[in-house]
Amino acid sequence: MKGKIGVTTENIFPIIKKFLYSDQEIFLRELISNAIDATEKLKVLARKGEYKGDVGNKKIYVKVDKKNKQIIVSDFGIGMTEEEVNQYINQIAFSSAEEFLSKYKDEVNLIGHFGLGFYSAFIVANKVELITKSYKEGAKAVKWICEGTPEFEIKEAERSEHGTDVILHITDETYKEFLEEDKIEELLNKYCKFLPIPIVFGKKKEFKDGKLVETDEDYIINNTNPLWLQKPQNLKDEDYKKFYKELYPREFEEPMFHIHLNIDYPFNLTGILYFPKITSPFDIQKRKIQLYCKQVFVTDNIEGIVPDYLTLLHGVIDSPDIPLNVSRSYLQNDPEVKKISSHITKKVADKLNDIYKDNRADFEKKWEDLKLFIQYGMISDEKFYDRAIAFALFKNTENKYFTLEEYKKLIESNQKDKYKNIVVLYTTDTEKQYTYIQRAKNKGYDVLVLDGHLDIAFINHLETKEKNLIFKRVDSDILEKLIEKDDTQKTQFSEIEQENFRYAVFAILPDKEKFLVSFEPVADSEMPALITQSEYIRRMKDMSQFSPSHIYRNVSDLFNFVVNTNHDLIKKINSELHETLKKQLEPLQQKIDSLKKELEELRKKYDENKTVIEEKDKELESIINEKKKIITDYAQQNDLLSQIIDIALLSHNLLKHERFENFLKRSIKLLEKN
Ligand code: ADP
Repeated sequence: MKGKIGVTTENIFPIIKKFLYSDQEIFLRELISNAIDATEKLKVLARKGEYKGDVGNKKIYVKVDKKNKQIIVSDFGIGMTEEEVNQYINQIAFSSAEEFLSKYKDEVNLIGHFGLGFYSAFIVANKVELITKSYKEGAKAVKWICEGTPEFEIKEAERSEHGTDVILHITDETYKEFLEEDKIEELLNKYCKFLPIPIVFGKKKEFKDGKLVETDEDYIINNTNPLWLQKPQNLKDEDYKKFYKELYPREFEEPMFHIHLNIDYPFNLTGILYFPKITSPFDIQKRKIQLYCKQVFVTDNIEGIVPDYLTLLHGVIDSPDIPLNVSRSYLQNDPEVKKISSHITKKVADKLNDIYKDNRADFEKKWEDLKLFIQYGMISDEKFYDRAIAFALFKNTENKYFTLEEYKKLIESNQKDKYKNIVVLYTTDTEKQYTYIQRAKNKGYDVLVLDGHLDIAFINHLETKEKNLIFKRVDSDILEKLIEKDDTQKTQFSEIEQENFRYAVFAILPDKEKFLVSFEPVADSEMPALITQSEYIRRMKDMSQFSPSHIYRNVSDLFNFVVNTNHDLIKKINSELHETLKKQLEPLQQKIDSLKKELEELRKKYDENKTVIEEKDKELESIINEKKKIITDYAQQNDLLSQIIDIALLSHNLLKHERFENFLKRSIKLLEKN
């Protein structure tokens, strides 16, 4: 019999090919899915007593016949009668293929995620033959042939057992890669690895006398009873590790632990999620979670289905309830998907909490590997934050771990400032910031180590979530100001002394535009001068690394140069400077003072005195310059001051190259003087 398929489009096959360009390979998944369905239906019939044969060992066979340019998928399922071929293949399948295309042609990238069904065979084949025999008593085998036009042919055929063979004729050069066994094996491994009926792809091969030869044993592609469908109580840790290897044969590292998901209400979902070791953002591999729909691989791009930070996990999720036939933007807002996503979040948080509670020591050991994941989750997901704040850990410089609550208790009494903030001191580099850490410790303060990739973003987030909690890096200010108490002292240096000393410091400092010089009576410090860097600016700069357009990205480093006016050496330099330069500076200072006074008066009537003001301003400027020059000349001869400045630079890792060389030479010179 010949016939015409009842469709409106003259020829949908070219359209199928065009739209599925990037997902050509799904044809195999679709045909095998049909074969699985046909075999499973047999089981249902057997249960009802409508099928008497043996259903236990039905297999599906996939063959590639390169010579005859064919791919053949055979099953021993329910098969079809001629009437059914007409109904299911000619009418239903065809019209659903047409409907499918009209609906989804704008979502080309998505098509591979859900089925086009039987007609996807025409993506790669020019001609498709279907030989089928129904399980029904007395049914005759029929052959259906279609050459990629709406015309088809049905004739009688021979088939000893019930079931269906689908034969794809691939004569188009474009698709010849699908006639390679390796390619088909790759696709079977991708899409069919965990299907419930054994899929046979030729015979097992083994090495004999140095040659690869076929054995008599069927080569079965799939694991029909994947671990995620088994009962967790029957499984051991080893089983999960083995399954991880099965999922990722090329992965070296073992996962840290797993979460077995098993949900049947309010939606259906099973799966196993693994925590990989992720210590740096370079280790992050997304697309490591595979999404299955009833054991059929759908995609490894689960963006939109679970929160972003969960995509750092590995494993499988299997659910018939995740709507696959819609766009991603829709998925993100779909209430069902939201439920799934928040449920997975909860499960993950619960599991982490269990490990933390059951074995704190073990959790601490794993912390460095978990940290990136947990912090990322806490920053990006409120709900996860609320759960994880109970077990997120902080490590101090003594390698002790604390939760936020524990840590607050530890430092509360000692590190509360006069504004009632708890100030957390931290270091990002225990070696480079060593002297600052020691100073803080000597004062009885505790210091956290925050050297992780997300630490700075994480503390930014914590400060917005936790009241009266501020983080300051140990070198961001002098100790007295890091944690301001009521009894902060003021410097004894007069305004003029400060001004002159500032000129002296600037005469020696390199990169002057990077420094602000201030005068503080630093109590109990052995350092005559030190360098700090504002927490705010530094942190903004750190954060700007994450966003290329950040306004702080191009801001250069800015440091505070703090002169410790409590220190004997500073006092000595100050008094010597003023003593030595007294004769030169005093008359200049008098002139400066009186000029300033005069200008103040003149400015009261600015418009009248404009020209005089301009003249006096110039005069003042030149006297100040004169003073500056005298101090600069003096300072540049002062080895002691140079040495003090260099030591401050050195302890902040800012003493480099030639300056460092000069510092060494000067040190020797100073030693020789003794
Ligand atoms: P779907 O599988 O989504 O129903 P298809 O286009 O893949 O759509 O198939 C249409 C119908 O053809 C199926 O519902 C089934 O009844 C029948 N069919 C397809 N392949 C087979 C097969 N291998 N064995 C038995 N019936 C089949």
